[in-house]
Amino acid sequence: MMSLTNAQEHGTINNSISPNVKLRSINIGDCKWTTGFWADKFKVCEETMVPYMGELLCGDVGHGLNNFKIAAGLKEGKHEGFAWHDGDFYKWMEAVTYVYAQNGDKKLLKELDDIIEIISKAQEKDGYIHTKIQIDPGISRYENRKYHEMYNSGHLYTSACIHYRVTGKLNFLDIAVKNADLLYSYFMPDDKKYVRFGFNQTQIMGLVELYRTVGDKKYLDLAEKFINNRGKYKVEETLATIGYPIGDMVQERTPLRESTEAVGHAVLALYYYAGAADVAAETGEKALVDALDRLWENVTDKKMYVTGAVGQTHYGASTNRDKIEEGFIDEYMMPNMTAYNETCANICNAMFSYRMLGLHGESKYADVVELVLYNSALSGISIEGKDYYYANPLRKIHGVRDYEKMNTEFPIRQPYLKCFCCPPNLVRTIAQVSGWAYSLSENGLAVNLYGGNKLETKLMDGSSLKLTQETQYPWNGTIKITMQECKEDAFEVLLRIPSWAEGSKVIVNGKDAGVKVVPGAFAKIERSWKKGDVLTLDMPMNITFVEGNQRIEEVRNQVAIKRGPIVYCIESPDLPNDAKILEVYIRGNAALKAEYRPDFLGGLSTIKGEVLLRKDNKEGMYRTMKNPTFKTVKTQFVPYYAWSNRGDSEMTVFIPVILE
Ligand SMILES: [Zn+2]
Repeated sequence: MMSLTNAQEHGTINNSISPNVKLRSINIGDCKWTTGFWADKFKVCEETMVPYMGELLCGDVGHGLNNFKIAAGLKEGKHEGFAWHDGDFYKWMEAVTYVYAQNGDKKLLKELDDIIEIISKAQEKDGYIHTKIQIDPGISRYENRKYHEMYNSGHLYTSACIHYRVTGKLNFLDIAVKNADLLYSYFMPDDKKYVRFGFNQTQIMGLVELYRTVGDKKYLDLAEKFINNRGKYKVEETLATIGYPIGDMVQERTPLRESTEAVGHAVLALYYYAGAADVAAETGEKALVDALDRLWENVTDKKMYVTGAVGQTHYGASTNRDKIEEGFIDEYMMPNMTAYNETCANICNAMFSYRMLGLHGESKYADVVELVLYNSALSGISIEGKDYYYANPLRKIHGVRDYEKMNTEFPIRQPYLKCFCCPPNLVRTIAQVSGWAYSLSENGLAVNLYGGNKLETKLMDGSSLKLTQETQYPWNGTIKITMQECKEDAFEVLLRIPSWAEGSKVIVNGKDAGVKVVPGAFAKIERSWKKGDVLTLDMPMNITFVEGNQRIEEVRNQVAIKRGPIVYCIESPDLPNDAKILEVYIRGNAALKAEYRPDFLGGLSTIKGEVLLRKDNKEGMYRTMKNPTFKTVKTQFVPYYAWSNRGDSEMTVFIPVILE
């Protein structure tokens, strides 16, 4: 049996003593980026994303802190922003905490302490805190779920737990505990007024994390209660819970344990599933785990874009024909131009997958985490780090969508979004990726994500482990891990071999490691390691065409270009002036070549090659096809995440392919 006495309690999720997980989080701050992709992204996060967002949220534009000040009686004024603005503010605080964990800048701590002081003054004596309801006249607490009280509470708990884990301070945690105790008093009893109240349920994840932090099982019980209640009570039975949305939109038509299909609002669904995975890590309940397995497969194998994005439509219907928004529709129904793919939903997909990685210890879950991070998460923010996308479509064409009428879809990234859920969600994610890079197995270490870093951690038996990782991944497929300090006894290093990485080689001290290397699985290298040992993973970074399942009508006879984990797109600045993105075709045997450009769009590899432009396909809706004519042009493809950083452009991920 493994000893849990030295388990790490300061992870991004603290599953250090969760009885039903195979891989456990390392402590926040144990892995520090040194050079390369994530080091660069983290630097932008630290120097631009987090401070810039702080100015927005603590000033009059974002009004996040103002709302707390007004609720605390420290300032005159009205509540501004949506009802869930407090939750988005807590997410930014969480990002600040992760940055502090990396750089130790005491100014950040002081800034947080000052804010926490204001939040504590805004909190009511019985623990209630939700500035919209506290400030605005005429609305009562826990009356209408559209106010997102659960969402705000969930982010409060998570942010406060992370703050405690990183700083050891109780000031923020105390606020969370008081609020959770209040939540328990309202929602633990079977009061029909409240049994359907859960909405945008980040409180499930938050409550489990609170349980893991303070050890009081009642928070876990309440988290489980929210799962048990969902779908148990029919709308007609419990009309006391007022307000749209209902049914599949909020995953209340089918109880989770009976669910076979991801439905409704994608963010709501995936926060819910992620929370349920946290509960399952503690309870080990088979019915819950089985349901989550089905739902994960359904999401990633039937409803996910090639970029890892999810939530195919802004407005639509579930397969039960409930009205839904920002969410899942039928399987394989994958529109490109109108794809919604909320940045939050994509991040939630990674959060759900990260928790499934813990539960099952299989690398396919980390594959999805990586796919999301490099593609549909990072596309939500500009290279500079100050402008945001809420929706992340796979195609953009000039002049066909009336963006004036869309509140969350934009032609270019925006410096502020009125609905501010995505930006801090993304920034806190970029700030914490280092905490996801490695996991602890029973006797060793799993390498989930690649990037230049230094790891100083402890294995589950308490032995010290120090290593460095050097790589130019994702632009180059060679990963070099050097042991700096480790125990004498044998232990395993699990290297994730991504599902696309066929032909990968694992080498120890210059010799083939002689282990099974299978794409889509961890390669297990178990041996007695010593200081100076070098473990190398060589992944061929071939440029590949990706085609969709033949049932995805929207991508039939089209291909996406992928190299390693990076999905590429073609964008109008890389085409001749008068060319339109809909004119672009590509030959199935096109010669494509990667080229690293250090000074282009933050430093990245483009792919050079030729495309064909077809100019004779513009008139009428349908017509008799004559011999098409094509013109060959040289171009470059850029990573999808880097699109729309050169003005208002056209773009497509999928390109019609001509097979000869
Ligand atoms: Zn969002």
